[in-house]
Amino acid sequence: MKKNLTKDLTLFYTSNFPKKFKSISNKKYLVTIGIGGNIGNTKRIFDKLLLCLKKDQRFDLLMTSPLLLNPPFGYLEQNDFLNGIIALKTNLAPNEFLKNMQRLEKRFGRKRSFQDAPRTLDIDIIFFDKKKINTKDLIVPHKDWANRESVIIPLEEMKRINR
Ligand code: AMP
Repeated sequence: MKKNLTKDLTLFYTSNFPKKFKSISNKKYLVTIGIGGNIGNTKRIFDKLLLCLKKDQRFDLLMTSPLLLNPPFGYLEQNDFLNGIIALKTNLAPNEFLKNMQRLEKRFGRKRSFQDAPRTLDIDIIFFDKKKINTKDLIVPHKDWANRESVIIPLEEMKRINR
């Protein structure tokens, strides 16, 4: 199912996005990640990523958002992006968690080329519990989250569905 929000923005509802998983987890930190991609079969890559996270005992999946198709920013000569949100719990510390997400990006074929370049899978840590982090490798909450439709719209939809 899809819902056109504006000329440029479309929400997609698939079997895994949105979805509700566990509501009980005794893991320590509630983490919100943003996922995005615009190369290859992005929905399939997201499904595979979800499966990896689900199988990994270090993570308890809570819920996912619907997916938003939206235009690129920065470098404009590329396909639209598909973006979504995953909420999960973990006991991993922020840096360890970041390393794991970077490993997953690599596993799904991400090559770092230039800023705002096309990508098969981008994983951003949007919130890490209530932590404020400002180090060389990690800024949390993610620095642009409040200005990005690609984050706000799926996040709001996820919250609305689970209210
Ligand atoms: P990008 O190419 O936009 O995915 O940026 C990747 C770089 O951003 C990595 O080197 C990370 O160390 C850094 N980074 C800083 N804050 C975050 C965050 N909240 N989530 C993911 N990566 C981050």
